Amino acid sequence: VMASMAHLQKEKLRLQEELLELQEKLAARENDELSLSLQLQGQVETLKEKLLEQAREISRLRSELGGTDAEKHRDLLAAENERLRQEMKACEGELRELRRQQQQQAPCRDCPHLQENAGLQEQLSQLQREAEETRAKLVELDLEVQQKTNRLAEVELRLKDSLAERAEEEERLSRRLRDSQETIASLKSQPQQIKYIIKTVEVESTKAKQALCETQSRNQYLQEQVGMQKQVLKEMEQQLQSSQKTEAQLRAQIMMYEAELERAHGQMLEEMQAMEEEKNHAIEEAFSRAQVEMKAVHENLAGVRTNLLTLQPALRTLTHDYNSLKRQVRDFPLLLQETLRSARAEISQAIEEVHSTNRELLRKYRRELQLRKKCHNELVRLKGNIRVFGRVRPITKEDGEGPEAANAVTFDADDDAVLHLLHKGKQVSFELDKVFPPQASQEEVFQEVQALVTSCIDGYNVCIFAYGQTGAGKTYTMEGTAANPGINQRALQLLFSEVRGKAADWDYAITVSAAEIYNEALRDLLGKEPQEKLEIKLCPDGSGQLYVPGLTEFRVQSVEDINKVFEFGHVKRVTECTNLNEHSSRSHALLIVTVRGLDRSTGLRTTGKLNLVDLAGSERVGRSGAEGSRLREAQHINKSLSALGDVIYALRSRQGHVPFRNSKLTYLLQDSLSGDSKTLMMVQVSPAEKNTSETLCSLKFAERVRSVELGPVSRKAELGSWPSQEHLEGDSPGSAAPPGRGHASPSPGQLSSRSASIRRKLHTSG
Ligand code: ADP
Ligand code: ADP
Ligand code: MG
Repeated sequence: VMASMAHLQKEKLRLQEELLELQEKLAARENDELSLSLQLQGQVETLKEKLLEQAREISRLRSELGGTDAEKHRDLLAAENERLRQEMKACEGELRELRRQQQQQAPCRDCPHLQENAGLQEQLSQLQREAEETRAKLVELDLEVQQKTNRLAEVELRLKDSLAERAEEEERLSRRLRDSQETIASLKSQPQQIKYIIKTVEVESTKAKQALCETQSRNQYLQEQVGMQKQVLKEMEQQLQSSQKTEAQLRAQIMMYEAELERAHGQMLEEMQAMEEEKNHAIEEAFSRAQVEMKAVHENLAGVRTNLLTLQPALRTLTHDYNSLKRQVRDFPLLLQETLRSARAEISQAIEEVHSTNRELLRKYRRELQLRKKCHNELVRLKGNIRVFGRVRPITKEDGEGPEAANAVTFDADDDAVLHLLHKGKQVSFELDKVFPPQASQEEVFQEVQALVTSCIDGYNVCIFAYGQTGAGKTYTMEGTAANPGINQRALQLLFSEVRGKAADWDYAITVSAAEIYNEALRDLLGKEPQEKLEIKLCPDGSGQLYVPGLTEFRVQSVEDINKVFEFGHVKRVTECTNLNEHSSRSHALLIVTVRGLDRSTGLRTTGKLNLVDLAGSERVGRSGAEGSRLREAQHINKSLSALGDVIYALRSRQGHVPFRNSKLTYLLQDSLSGDSKTLMMVQVSPAEKNTSETLCSLKFAERVRSVELGPVSRKAELGSWPSQEHLEGDSPGSAAPPGRGHASPSPGQLSSRSASIRRKLHTSG
């Protein structure tokens, strides 16, 4: 702040100095101008005087009219003229000098008066030109005057000569007259002589008279000459007058120049005044600004001072803090080391504790794991490896229209395992493991099946059956359409991707076989001889495994391969049968996928089988109407489906004996149904009103497969046998057992004596 104040004061001083300088310059210039103008005035005065002198001289000349005098005056005038010219030149030089000074003194190039000045200068030069012209004219006039005076002198000379001649003549004549009179007088005295003399005189007097006349005429001529000379003189006077007029003009011009000069001077003064005013104004402004700034600076200074005052205590506290901090920093390393030591000890202790707890936890975890495994096994054992799903197809065009095609199936929004069927005005409810409504997609269905399929890679055997009346969607669920494939294709795709994921450790081979069971005859759908009936045989290696000699197996590695296989199988079926739909609904179609794995590191081998079965239609064929082959077909289907039901029932109720041999189907699938194998029964139903009785039958079948109670209760169930397909047909909906509990009363003939005795025992103990 102090520095800025000092700077401002310095600035102010500098400005004042500048002002003084400028003022001095201005005064000097004014002085110069004043002296110059005075000089000019003096010169003009002298010029005027000289002009007056000239005029006087001219008038004198006029009065004297003397030739030599005129010459002398002319010379004088010429000399005077020359001198005047030189003086004028000197004046001009001075003027130029003055102008140069003016230009130097007016450095402000942007000054608006510069232009005016230039204009004035131009005017001045114009005036000078004019003066030059007038001067030239003057010289001309001088020359003329000189010529005229010359001529005048000549004329005067001639006049003088003639006057002298005349005087001489007169004198001569008077002398002769005198002589003549003397002679006359002498002659008088000498009369004769006189007479003669008179006579001669008389003659001579005529001559004299003649001479007199001549002289008189000459005199007249001379007088004329004098008049002429006078005229010339008059002309000269006129010329003199004109030259006087030009002189007056010149004088007027000089006056004009003076006025011009004065005006220029006045302008210059005005400019100077304006400049000075501007300067004063600027100085005043700068001064006021400086004052304002100074005030602001003073205020700032005051603020800073107060700040400084408040800051001092803060500084004191800060220094105090700083000192204490310094002390702390000095003490910090020691503190840190100590803390680190204690922390290290604590940490190692904590780690030790964690270690021990970890060990404890690990031990507990292992125990829990074992327990969980045991529990899981128990659960699986209790639940069994058999699941029953239901799938309701949507109402299709084939169902027709009207009340026949009305929907008779409803679902429970909260329970996806419950399904309600409206049959003959009554609602019957069924509970399965899961129910797929019509809107369920192939994808959703497969999601539920997926786990079953993948377990086949781990060496489990899996069976998936599609059960239901013809047209209920069995083939749709298993095969699906080209755009929306079913479980078959999706399962194989999943197997491929899973196998690919394990390719790092395992080598897998996936083979596919396709077979059909019609009228209890097994036929290879991929073989060269489709009509050939195949036999199911026990493996000679004593493993208890079954195999079908001659059944074609295709090794598949990609989805394209499967598609080819399916196409091939279909073509076989189509060419062999006249009515595919009819035939397919009368036979069981099997797709057997075998997954053989080899763990490269351990050499462990696994074999899993996935059996995908599209069963024959479960509908009841009219008992009375059916004859011949139709009846035989119906009997075979009925038998095989009953056998399947028996087997599943036996498996789920953990009976000691499972009747696999009762049908070709169950026999073929024996190793895939028993032991660790997993089975899924997908019961397909139609929701249409007209199909309700068949739907009811299918659902009863499903529920009965599922309703087998497990655990201790299953022993009770063991007492009852699986009802035959015929028996199912006989069931009226009204007498349907309640869901989850119902089982048909076994026909007495089917009860073995052993179970009957057990029942009796239970009854008596009960
Ligand atoms: P099935 O094999 O039991 O005789 P299909 O699978 O041939 O029955 O099905 C009969 C008709 O119903 C077919 O036209 C099929 O496309 C259709 N269908 C079955 N289930 C569904 C479904 N879930 N969604 C759509 N259409 C279905
Ligand atoms: P094998 O295999 O010795 O030919 P099966 O297992 O085919 O004998 O049995 C012959 C018939 O006897 C079958 O119809 C089967 O259901 C029945 N049977 C065998 N053992 C039992 C059993 N423990 N309880 C009930 N029926 C049985
Ligand atoms: Mg079908």
